[in-house]
Formats: sequence, structure tokens, C-alpha cells
Amino acid sequence: MRFATRALRIGQEPDPKYRAVIQPLYQSSTFAWADLDHIPAIDYTRCQNPNRETLEQVIASLENGTRATVYSSGMSAIGAAFSLLQKGDHLLMATEIYGGTFRIAEKWLPRQGVSVSSFCPHNPLTIRDVIRPESKMLIFETPANPNLRVCDIRAVAAEAKKHGLIVVFDNTFASPALQNPLDLGVDIVVHSTTKYIAGHSDIIGGATVVKDEELGVWLYEYAKAWGCVPSPFDCWLSLRGVKTLGIRMAQHSSNALAVAEFLEKHPGVAKVHYPGLPTHPDHQIAKSQMTSFGGMLAVEFHSVEAARKVAESTKVFILAESLGGVESLIAYPPLMSHATMTEEQRLERGIPPTMLRLSVGIEDPADLIEDLEQALA
Ligand SMILES: *Cc1c(COP(=O)(O)O)cnc(C)c1O
Repeated sequence: MRFATRALRIGQEPDPKYRAVIQPLYQSSTFAWADLDHIPAIDYTRCQNPNRETLEQVIASLENGTRATVYSSGMSAIGAAFSLLQKGDHLLMATEIYGGTFRIAEKWLPRQGVSVSSFCPHNPLTIRDVIRPESKMLIFETPANPNLRVCDIRAVAAEAKKHGLIVVFDNTFASPALQNPLDLGVDIVVHSTTKYIAGHSDIIGGATVVKDEELGVWLYEYAKAWGCVPSPFDCWLSLRGVKTLGIRMAQHSSNALAVAEFLEKHPGVAKVHYPGLPTHPDHQIAKSQMTSFGGMLAVEFHSVEAARKVAESTKVFILAESLGGVESLIAYPPLMSHATMTEEQRLERGIPPTMLRLSVGIEDPADLIEDLEQALA
């Protein structure tokens, strides 16, 4: 089955008791044993739950993996990947990385005796400059948050593999509809399912996906042991959301391109960062690994005041943190997603204070453009 069909049909047979087409919500913490000779496949919701199991099967399939585990947040999915690190190990982290991942690497990993170095994902050979005998794992993401730079996933993964590293990739920005990193040499894909996978800004969740059985068992055991699991209802909502992932991503991508083309021509705009624009420095790499360019873009204005005024003047775009929902959001990274970094750290990563990040939703694109036009006026 192809992507769109798998999203609807993997693990989703009519319910055996009433023939319900939609899997019922199994809002139960525990499941009865028939007798003491047969351990039920699912017996306690921290360990597994039918709604969670179905969601995991669908996400594993959409990422071309063999096994997925879902969590109570994207950060717990990243924490699960980091649980493979122990005292004395060394982590390589891309300079362009989600603020929450950066926070764990800055504050929490060193406390556990894990050291962290940065590398530039646009020049994979810089991995050689920071590699050590105790290096164990590398983590990166693309398109990057919030400046939308795109690195070559195959090249970074191949260089990391030469040094025997476990390669972790955060695929939240693209979603499995646009790129499948496990096919490009990555070992563990992580997602904040809060964003495109669930897609409706109504749950917090995360996922890891792997091809390797041993890694899959480890990640499942981690969620079970630490209990960072999503509720049955959050899984039910996420499964409902993921069914439309393919068509949503197509609309997010075409709306974002229309918005990017409008902004690029506007005199009030200094620069537009969208990998779908031929003027984007990484357009060719993006084309080689993505099926389309997604709903995220960043815009630079001529002054901080201009950026702040636009952020506060839109009527269709909602001023809010987060991304990947059906409604358009506008965000100011220094006060939101990248507030944990210093001004200097942000500037090093190409995040000037004149920049806004847009998560372009699936509204009529003419309304989005009119909204930005009046905010810029
Ligand atoms: C939001 C986000 C996360 C964290 O996910 P939560 O669900 O908020 O815990 C991780 N990585 C990226 C790229 C994100 O956008």
C-alpha cells in the first residue's frame, strides 16, 4: 500500500465486537486476564494500550521503519534516544537544533556525565574535528528551526557512520509525508507528534521510529520503565490526525510557497527563508531529499520594531508558540522557541531579532496573503 492508504488502513480493521469502523477509545488503565496460564498481550496501559499500539504501527509504517514507540511529548522521545548514552559518553549535536534539545544538552546531559560538542551540519567533515574515542551518538534535524536551512541528511549520516555513531534525526519539521530519514542512513527518527503528525494543535506527543529491532526494544522498554507514555485519548486523536497527513502536507506546502513568493516581493521584507524558493541556498539539497517543502518559513524585516509590529498585527495568523497545526501561527523565536539561547548563541545560528517564524496552515492562501499585506501596511 502507498503512503495515503497506509495512513488509513495499517492496523485499522473494524472492531471485532461491534464492527465499528473507527477503533474505539480504550480508556482503561488495566485489562483482564482470562486465566493465570495466558498473559494478555495488553495488560496495563503504561506498558501498552490498543490505541497506542495502532498509532505506533501507523507511524512505523509511514516512516518506513519496523517499530515505533510513542511518548507523552516530543521531548520524552528525544529523552528516550538520549537514554542510550551513559556516563563518559560524548554526544555530537548540530548547531541548528530545537531549543528544547539544546536545553537538555546544555543542562541535563552534563549532570549525567555525558559531554556534548557542536558540529556544523552543512559541512559534515567538521564531525572529524570534534570526534573523540568516547563519541557515541549524533543528533541533527532539517529543515532547521527557525531559519529553514537544509542540510544533506545522507552526507551527515554517512560521515557519522564512519565513526560508528548512533545517528538520531528529528523529523518534526518535514513529517514522514515529505522525507523519510531512515531510508537515508539514520538509525533513530524522533518526532514531536504535537506538530504535523497529530496536526490539529490539540495534543502533546512524541515518537521514535527505527528499523533495528534491538534499538526498537530498548526505546519501548524506556517508555515502559519511565512511564512517559501518552494517554489513550491522545493516541486516538493523533491517529485521527495522521490519517490526513498526506493531504495536509500538500496544502501546507502549496500555501507556504504562495506566502513565501508574496513576501519575497514585498518591500517591507528584508529576506524570506523557504527551501521551496529557487533563491534559497539549500534549494537543490531540499529537492533531493524532500517530496515538497513543507509549511514552515522564516521572514526577516528591516528592523526589530517592524518584525514586532507584524507579529502583533495579523488577524488570521495567530501569535503563538508551536507549529504544524491546520491553523496558521506566527512566532517570535527570541521570546518563544529559542528563548533558552543567549542573543549571541542565536546570532551564531542565523536567528536575528528581526526574524519571525511562520507556520503556514491550510486556510485559503488568499486570506493568508491579505492578512500579511495588512499587517505590513
Ligand atoms: C516541538 C518540537 C520538539 C518538542 O516536542 P514537544 O512535543 O513540545 O515536547 C522537538 N523538536 C522539534 C523540531 C520541535 O518542533
